[in-house]
Amino acid sequence: MALGKDYATQECSIARALEIVGERWTLLVIRDALYGVRRYNDFLVHLGIPRAVLAARLQALTAEGILEKRRYQQSPPRDEYVPTERGIALWPTLRSLGRWGREQFDQEQVRVFRHAACGTELGSYGECPACGTIVPVPDVVMEPGPGADPDPADPVSRALLRPKRLLTPLGPDPV
Ligand SMILES: [Zn+2]
Repeated sequence: MALGKDYATQECSIARALEIVGERWTLLVIRDALYGVRRYNDFLVHLGIPRAVLAARLQALTAEGILEKRRYQQSPPRDEYVPTERGIALWPTLRSLGRWGREQFDQEQVRVFRHAACGTELGSYGECPACGTIVPVPDVVMEPGPGADPDPADPVSRALLRPKRLLTPLGPDPV
């Protein structure tokens, strides 16, 4: 019998969330979308994910209202995937998960997140210690940390070497 993806006996909102984000690769697709990845080929190259799996994840995330599919080219038809409010609301979860992984498994910081307005590194709860406010996702700037190890063959990895705001689409390659 195939392993189901729902948790029918669990009356728990964590179980409800895991029905959507508990599949392998799903959270990493959402992470990349929040970093500004929008196009199928960019997800494909950056994640190193099988094509069929990526297509299934993008379809499921669109159906759940976490990503919105937008056509950016008619001929040939090409779509991009943009995080919705529901998707953006996963940011604190992703960031906490990343901190947990780094602290518990003694990893170097791959990305540093700062408040765009003042440049201060965000605290544990997404707050700016200098301004005393929770920083909205579009006002978070990400930049490479000491553990960043970019793949020269991956344009997304190269693009993320430059500081950028979350959600803004990836720009052209740095020269
Ligand atoms: Zn600040």
